[in-house]
Amino acid sequence: MINLILFGPPGSGKGTQAAKLVKQYNLYHISTGDMFRSEIGNKTELGLLAKSYTSKGELVPDAVTISMLKKRVEDNPDVKGFIFDGFPRTNAQAQALNEMLAEKNDDITGLLLLDVPAEELIIRLMDRAKTSGRADDADPKVIKNRIQVYRETTQPVADFYAQLDKTHYLKGVGTIDEITERLIKSIDGILAVPQVAE
Ligand code: AMP
Repeated sequence: MINLILFGPPGSGKGTQAAKLVKQYNLYHISTGDMFRSEIGNKTELGLLAKSYTSKGELVPDAVTISMLKKRVEDNPDVKGFIFDGFPRTNAQAQALNEMLAEKNDDITGLLLLDVPAEELIIRLMDRAKTSGRADDADPKVIKNRIQVYRETTQPVADFYAQLDKTHYLKGVGTIDEITERLIKSIDGILAVPQVAE
């Protein structure tokens, strides 16, 4: 199975690129951010809880996020593979994902990190706010917090996968198509190497 993690700070283009990669590799896209927004929109109990964190740019607690993700994976047993977008964002989430995949004799294929300078992220998010309707994109204080949370809590996840030789750093600036090309080149390179089950 192909299990890709699309990684990077808020505004690095994960969602946009995930949509392209899903088509290219016929994978199932899981965005925990989209899942939370859908719960918030439907005013579910989970949505109400999630909103108290997303509105401040904080992470939703691991236990809640992990069980939501697990259920989505379990509900889709017949797909060719997954593209995880916005998950894992903490070491505990990475650990849970590894354990979940190991139970199926599976593993992460690779983590693709889209590298974008902070100044560019703020410009992109403020611009996206005009059309996304996302409150967390519109408030500079919340954006700054999201970037800080990424640096402090999420970045170590990439370091963890780097130790396993699974992290691939890519330049996340340029046109959408240029970035897609870079991703495809990197993923094709990963897939060309025989996957060894541990
Ligand atoms: P995103 O659309 O990926 O930028 O996510 C929007 C917000 O949803 C984040 O700022 C978090 O509050 C929450 N969120 C999304 N994914 C996760 C995750 N893996 N762990 C914790 N919170 C998350």
